[in-house]
Amino acid sequence: MTVLVINSGSSSIKYQLVDPESGDAIAVGLVEQIGESSSHVKHTYQGEKHEYDLVLADHGEGLRFVLNLFEKIGPQLSEAGIKAVGHRVVQGGNHFDGPALVTDEVRDLVEELAPLAPLHNPANLRGIDVARELLDVPHVVVFDTAFFQTLPEEAARYALNREVADKYAVRRYGAHGTSHQFVSQKVAEFTGRDDLKQIVLHLGNGASVSAVVNGEAVDTSMGLTPLEGLVMGTRTGDIDPAVIFHLSRVGGMNVGELDNLFNKQSGLKGLAGENDMRAVWALANGGDKFAREALDIYVHRLVKYIGSYAAVMGGLDTIAFTAGIGENDELLRAEVIERLNSFGIKLDLEANDVRSDDIRQISTDDSSVQVLIVPTNEELAIARQAMDVISR
Ligand code: ADP
Repeated sequence: MTVLVINSGSSSIKYQLVDPESGDAIAVGLVEQIGESSSHVKHTYQGEKHEYDLVLADHGEGLRFVLNLFEKIGPQLSEAGIKAVGHRVVQGGNHFDGPALVTDEVRDLVEELAPLAPLHNPANLRGIDVARELLDVPHVVVFDTAFFQTLPEEAARYALNREVADKYAVRRYGAHGTSHQFVSQKVAEFTGRDDLKQIVLHLGNGASVSAVVNGEAVDTSMGLTPLEGLVMGTRTGDIDPAVIFHLSRVGGMNVGELDNLFNKQSGLKGLAGENDMRAVWALANGGDKFAREALDIYVHRLVKYIGSYAAVMGGLDTIAFTAGIGENDELLRAEVIERLNSFGIKLDLEANDVRSDDIRQISTDDSSVQVLIVPTNEELAIARQAMDVISR
């Protein structure tokens, strides 16, 4: 029994054939540069990587090529027991507080939400449309925002003029919800407790933090879009919105230029010249002042969020680190936790240095807060949610 998980971007399709029970990724692949002069396809099955360069004009051609690869290289989808396709969708607005079976109506709702996620929803929708055409199994959409539909109004509503905010559906929807939900559930299982005040730090290229009480999200750092909050690979995170007025009035920049500046040319890249955390460390270790400063800004912002979320929840039981940086960057974790020492939060330095794919504790036993590393697995979470939906 398997689920094909599809994450369709504007010029890419990421896919995984997942066994939702064992959690195994049976085949993994990526189609990139769709619609460009040459597209690139990578398909990995049984430890072997197969790569192709060819022209794929659109997502339909891309997915057709992938389905042929499954037949040619394996596993044969007819024999893999594919029960559903799970699609990642970024923006579910206020329509979706959980996964949904794709019907024509659900498909149209995803399209209607496009103005709230112009970079993502149309691309997600392309994946849904071509996959529905080519794969005759139930399709399920899993929304990045769904886990944050429980946010209380005080956390979800900006102090923006109510009429304007409501007219244009401006509020904090959050993002990375599938990961925050998966990780917070793992923390509950690991500790054997449902009654936890948790902070989840999802630190990848995109980065976000959530506050979770008794399994429900009560605050999160991403807002109307994934731009708000932490310092990210190329995004500013929190910034005074008046910077936009200033750069527009004084710098003469238009909306497109500002969007590009804030989303693609800022964050670690804009501060240190590199968006990849490993490259930033390499620069900083070589004595680069701007790279070291970028790390300081990154850590400062994280510490600020941890403190404020502990206050919002009126206490804190666990901090979980996840995603590329959270799971792998022991130096960064050490710098963050060191800043929290005065609250009795203590890192077990040896445990922090251990590399593993398992969930593990990296705080000392006498730490006031249990600090954990929890490997995230959004594909598995999507596959399991898809199975839940079709077996309802
Ligand atoms: P995405 O948001 O694209 O899914 P990931 O969760 O894969 O991103 O995280 C990518 C980030 O993780 C990059 O900044 C990368 O440098 C960082 N990363 C991966 N491995 C390490 C490591 N060993 N040390 C520090 N950072 C790492």
